Amino acid sequence: EKYVYSFNGEKTEGDASLMNLLGGKGANLAEMARLGIPVPPGFTITTECCNAFLRSGGSYPHGYTEQLNDALGRLEKNMGLAFGDPDNPLLVSCRSGGRQSMPGMMETVLNVGLTSGTIPGLIKKTGNGRFVYDSYRRLIMMYADVVMEKAEGIEAMNGNGIRNQLEKILAAFKETRNLQNDADLTEDDLKTLCGLFTERVETVLGEKFPDSPEAQLQGAIGAVFKSWNGKRAQSYRRIEQIPDSWGTGVTVQAMVFGNMGDTSATGVAFTRNPATGENTFFGEWLANAQGEDVVAGLRTPAPINDATKRETNKGVTSLEVAMPGAYNELEAIRNTLERHYKEMLDIEFTIQNKRLYMLQCRVGKRTGTASLVMAMEMLEEGLIDEVTAIKRVKPQQLNELLHPIVDPEEESRAECLTEGLPAGPGGAFGHLAFTSDDAVKLAKTHPNVILVREETNPEDIEGMRAASGILTARGGMTSHAALVARGWGKCCIVGAGDITIHPSMNKMQIGDKTFNQGDILTLNGTRGRVYEGKLKMVDATEDTRFQKFMQMADAYRTMGVRANADTREDALVAKSYGAEGIGLFRTEHMFYSAGADDRLFILRKIILSDTEGERKAAVQELEPYVKEEIKETLKAMNGMPVTIRALDPPLHEFVPHSRAKQIELAEALGVDVTEIKRRCEALQESNPMMGHRGVRLGISVPDLTEMQVKAVFEATAELAKDGFHPQPEIMIPVTCDVEELVFVRKIVNTTCEEVARRYGLASIVHKFGTMIEIPRSALRANQMAELSEFFSFGTNDLTQLTYGFSRDDVGEFLPTYLEKKILPADPFQTLDPSGVGELIKIAVERGRKTRPDLKLGICGEHGGDPDSVRFCYKAGLDYVSCSPYRIPIARLAAAHAAI
Ligand code: ADP
Ligand code: MG
Ligand code: MG
Repeated sequence: EKYVYSFNGEKTEGDASLMNLLGGKGANLAEMARLGIPVPPGFTITTECCNAFLRSGGSYPHGYTEQLNDALGRLEKNMGLAFGDPDNPLLVSCRSGGRQSMPGMMETVLNVGLTSGTIPGLIKKTGNGRFVYDSYRRLIMMYADVVMEKAEGIEAMNGNGIRNQLEKILAAFKETRNLQNDADLTEDDLKTLCGLFTERVETVLGEKFPDSPEAQLQGAIGAVFKSWNGKRAQSYRRIEQIPDSWGTGVTVQAMVFGNMGDTSATGVAFTRNPATGENTFFGEWLANAQGEDVVAGLRTPAPINDATKRETNKGVTSLEVAMPGAYNELEAIRNTLERHYKEMLDIEFTIQNKRLYMLQCRVGKRTGTASLVMAMEMLEEGLIDEVTAIKRVKPQQLNELLHPIVDPEEESRAECLTEGLPAGPGGAFGHLAFTSDDAVKLAKTHPNVILVREETNPEDIEGMRAASGILTARGGMTSHAALVARGWGKCCIVGAGDITIHPSMNKMQIGDKTFNQGDILTLNGTRGRVYEGKLKMVDATEDTRFQKFMQMADAYRTMGVRANADTREDALVAKSYGAEGIGLFRTEHMFYSAGADDRLFILRKIILSDTEGERKAAVQELEPYVKEEIKETLKAMNGMPVTIRALDPPLHEFVPHSRAKQIELAEALGVDVTEIKRRCEALQESNPMMGHRGVRLGISVPDLTEMQVKAVFEATAELAKDGFHPQPEIMIPVTCDVEELVFVRKIVNTTCEEVARRYGLASIVHKFGTMIEIPRSALRANQMAELSEFFSFGTNDLTQLTYGFSRDDVGEFLPTYLEKKILPADPFQTLDPSGVGELIKIAVERGRKTRPDLKLGICGEHGGDPDSVRFCYKAGLDYVSCSPYRIPIARLAAAHAAI
């Protein structure tokens, strides 16, 4: 088996297609060498070798040593130098590089091969003793840290590892000599420092610093392999979901030196601006330095050109001015690379005595805005085709474009107070309020309010509406607050467990800091971070490029995208984001919203009435309100389907808790207030989400069903008479058996005929269907489809009931499940393909067997999750429905699924 692949100007064995085997760094170095770009020669040891090495606990596979020696020999010949040679010594770097870039997560050792045997020769040859001792002190620092400490599994005590100790020696040395910069150290200073360093290494680590080039190389290669399992690398892999089995490659490469003096330098650049996407060359450089100084942020680098300069860089010299020759060459390479890779690249370079060398290139990380801008511009430039352009933007990245965001500049300098779950993306700042009422009041005088609650319930809705951002101490991503916030495109952080709230005292505590009502905080809902004071917001508003991009994506999309919207306003927002209908209109919303007092009062009368007569009267009283809401929405969505769900939540959610409200109701119903209290208590359920709700209400209180259906039909009839084209779809929630549908359908049919007759119409066009959110109804889909013209998968409840996880309580255990890898992902965020998904597939198949033209959709929160959208596409659904602000995400995800 081949474990070692050489690259050099004469013969290069690998290329960019060998990413998996060579790692990104090795593969791209080979590719650049093939393109004739100046790359210091070297060779890459494969990820397979890494895996074999790690599996066996540190021994190399058969044949490796010969291949290594062979490649090293070739490298020596190529460079005209020899490893360990006293007169013409070759120095190398040992660099890590996995399949997917993990910037800074693994280790690299530079200047390998410097020993007491090679130092004098190199000084003689270069005539630059300062440079040689600077390189040696860097080798000692890196090698002691990476090879002698970390790779040996020696834990640094109290963060005081060897690297830290050597840094301290260096700092103290500079202080005693009154020196500001490393660059001010003389040859003699550096020589003395190297002596101090090797001494300290031996006392701390109990071992001499290796003085043989071969020992150094072997140690470095092994340590780089081991860094695959370093702490940083492991946690990064967990976050980015990179498999542990991939392993890293090791690239051994001839050193070039950016630290040879003022005509030498090192730097990092992006072929386009990674924050804005602008087509300008963007980068930073340092004179007389080695690459690690820039990438590890050890020194503050200067801009490479005017395009990179900012206000703060005024007096600083750019590379373009300092070394125009090398800069022009770099710019030419930038163009060659972009044309070749057809991507924005992140590159590392070093200049040795005015000669430019490329040390790395990889696809650069970027913001959502930059992704979109670059995709569209590269398309216009003819660099990429439409499908590639569409794929370049990740659906999630659109989030950024649809919400105001915290200025990343300011945020990088601000100190994070605490963190929670990023429930509603975007940024918000505002004055704190600790109750819904206070939020509403405060919002009248201050446009920006942050509502802080332990958790939220429907009675907080007005405060949530009035607030710019919502912060809760408890709750998960599908908690009420999160759901509502996303629906409104509102910035929201939930489950920030470090917060202690004292609502009665109008204050809260985070750590040892106390915040009072009116104090200002900033939330970054995209990252789940909380900051003290006000950070700047930047508006990432839609532009024509965004519109054009979405239109292009739509042309490839085959699955429909609808919105979950409960009001005319939400419907209009949804339409402006490209919704092709409403997949879920929640009737109950009209009782939560601001100004709903009248409606809520009547609903409460219905709920708390005892006699048939009392109830019938109240139901009649409510009908005009329901009709009006439905009519407004049907009108806003003229010509598009609107799925109207019958009343779903358990009744006690609407019951009044305050004594004042109870007295008011008692008066209206002509009973004693203790009687009202009794009736309220009687409505309490021990498990309301699985209690008296959904279709169960519609069956036990048929008047309620009849009233809602009548409202739908009257609204439809009136609009039709006015020349509109309403398309209502009546949807029955929480069903588990076809007999429930038989019961409700009878009411629907009778009411439809009655309304049509009254309005003088031959018929009223509508659809009748059910939600599939209880596993039993998925299994009984063939029967359910006998009466349903459509199914809408309510995946929130379907997930809850399939797992037996209470949606409102998962916050208690799900984080542990994810951390311990018991579940791969939060099933409330990403649809579980193997369990919940299986039920969906069964329902699709059985439902369509009964009714081939059955319409199928999904209306859970999953409708806006890209992976779930892909699943829905594969399962053959006709549409997904999601919150208005997630519609562009769903549209793009559906386009990605189809191409
Ligand atoms: P990372 O993956 O953390 O960026 P690298 O392997 O790219 O680590 O190395 C860190 C720094 O060392 C980079 O700035 C790189 O340019 C520099 N470097 C690596 N190999 C060489 C070399 N052969 N000559 C000069 N500089 C090098
Ligand atoms: Mg690098
Ligand atoms: Mg439900």
